[in-house]
Amino acid sequence: MQVQVGHGSITLVQGDITHQDVDAIVNAANKTLLGGGGVDGAIHQAAGPELLAECKRIRKEVLGGAYVETAQPVMTNGYRLKARHVIHVVGPICGIDPHPDRLLAAAYRNCLQLAAEAGLKSVAFPSISTGAFGCDVRWASRIALGTIVDFLRGVDATGADDKEAVERSEPAEKSGLRARDATASHHGPGGIAEVRMVLFTRADYDVYVEALEAVLAEG
Ligand code: ADP
Repeated sequence: MQVQVGHGSITLVQGDITHQDVDAIVNAANKTLLGGGGVDGAIHQAAGPELLAECKRIRKEVLGGAYVETAQPVMTNGYRLKARHVIHVVGPICGIDPHPDRLLAAAYRNCLQLAAEAGLKSVAFPSISTGAFGCDVRWASRIALGTIVDFLRGVDATGADDKEAVERSEPAEKSGLRARDATASHHGPGGIAEVRMVLFTRADYDVYVEALEAVLAEG
């Protein structure tokens, strides 16, 4: 399924994110940045050991050994992937993190912002937080697609409450170069022409199709 939104498009596909031919794929990472299961494991497997080496370097040299904060993306090279870059972002853990709705929206928005600032044209996301992090896929799909639609329309959806939720992310600010400053003002959709959601299962794909129709119908 593909729809035009603003100056870009949203594509929903069922598939494996490691096979996507886009400028950047997003990794649903964990706070260690050192790989894990699910999509994180698949991306590291496909990208090769150089990806883990770069992640280790960033943890040590840029973040000073600190964990990556939720919703604060970090960009690396894509190595053996078709995608030139990987944007690693930690989504909220449902049932544990407060304000998971704000954090999930911030995760998508900050990745899009970082990609736009880097001049990237196409970005592919997995369904962040709906695997090991336990969030309901129907709930998450509305937030994901609502945030992507707002971004492509150039809507500044960063309300005061959202800022509060992401501003506590001090370590990412320290990293300066690669982790974006969540408090920066909205820069508009930049040149992003395609945002692709890559759903691993047919069931998740169907949920996202329904959510996209609902989000667009809401205007
Ligand atoms: P999180 O910890 O953020 O919940 P997971 O990796 O556990 O992340 O799950 C997020 C989503 O990624 C799940 O819907 C899972 O089915 C999906 N997923 C797992 N492997 C892949 C893959 N290779 N490509 C795309 N999506 C994947």
